[in-house]
Amino acid sequence: MPDSKSIETLLAHAGLISDLSTGAVSTPIYQTATFSHPELGKSTGFDYSRTANPTRLVLEKVLAELEGGVDASAFASGMAAITSLQCLFKPGDTILVSDDLYGGTYRLFERVFRPWGLHFEYLDFADLTGVKQSTDARVKAFFIETPTNPLMKIADLKKLIGFARSREVLVIVDNTFMTPYCQRPLQLGADVVVHSGTKYLSGHNDTLFGAVVSKDVDIAAKIAFTQNATGAVCSPFDGWLALRGLKTLAVRLDRAQESAFAVARWLLKRKGVKTVYFPGLAAHPGRKTHFGQASGPGALLSFRLADKKAVRRVINYVETITFAESLGGVESLITYPMTQTHVDIPEPLRKRIGITEDLLRLSIGIERCEDLIADLDQAIG
Ligand SMILES: *Cc1c(COP(=O)(O)O)cnc(C)c1O
Repeated sequence: MPDSKSIETLLAHAGLISDLSTGAVSTPIYQTATFSHPELGKSTGFDYSRTANPTRLVLEKVLAELEGGVDASAFASGMAAITSLQCLFKPGDTILVSDDLYGGTYRLFERVFRPWGLHFEYLDFADLTGVKQSTDARVKAFFIETPTNPLMKIADLKKLIGFARSREVLVIVDNTFMTPYCQRPLQLGADVVVHSGTKYLSGHNDTLFGAVVSKDVDIAAKIAFTQNATGAVCSPFDGWLALRGLKTLAVRLDRAQESAFAVARWLLKRKGVKTVYFPGLAAHPGRKTHFGQASGPGALLSFRLADKKAVRRVINYVETITFAESLGGVESLITYPMTQTHVDIPEPLRKRIGITEDLLRLSIGIERCEDLIADLDQAIG
């Protein structure tokens, strides 16, 4: 938790009066590629917008403060942010990765990084014994999602970080699902946090952006170097949308989490629903661990239908809820992980971890909760 201001206040003030020369309340969009220099050898601190842009810089400072890092780099998307991490490794290095994770990250690791010599092993970070057995000298990092996507498995960050320290293994947490409003891995000892800001941080399904926040000056410098060298930066306009979204993150998440709780409890009792995965439920494995490291359950849940053929009906019949991939926006979305977010994960691995034909994922937005439940009720039939 930041020392002086509460996180709600930090969020509401994201980018407030960052332009002292005019006092503009909202951070201006510095839509410029380059910056003039007053004379040879002098710079305003800005030379070229790939390297640094004032709008993006404000966003980066806000993200660093929210996560409790020394610095942040904002990228054009979450995948660009995750790609920048490659500068921390060299061919031959192995990274242990959550086996149940965002499908695009799996695709990036397997189809782009593996051919360049990095190795990835997928495992369940909830199983600490398994993690210990798999951590040999080649392992340089853990890449953790908690809760995982889409099955909401919980990793015990403090225990994993403690173990990683003893082996000089870097801990990277994809904090997209929780956001710094609910979970701050750097403060638990993680080294790096990555985000798809496309989701809750911007929150309106109107932009893509990503970020890397680090607690270590050398890592932050390497990421910033890679950001400039590879060039997939967050644009000034997208940075402005991100700042605007951040201002309401706390109220959006409070509301969405409350509704997600109600929807999860309702689904539990609904005929035709076999299993519900939501960290807030009393029976959820890892619930206690989750609430030891996060302040809320999040607003994502997955569920299995008793009859897998009913999936088509649910998807075709929802009206208030939109059938689309992604999450974290003000509008509720329903996703079919098997054919959408996780299509690039090979079938045997998908089956092993449980991403099967009967599984649906819900991202709960800020609509009236009763409307969402009524919609699911008529869609499940
Ligand atoms: C969406 C997502 C990503 C990828 O982010 P983009 O902004 O779509 O590139 C990475 N990790 C998680 C957990 C995500 O949900």
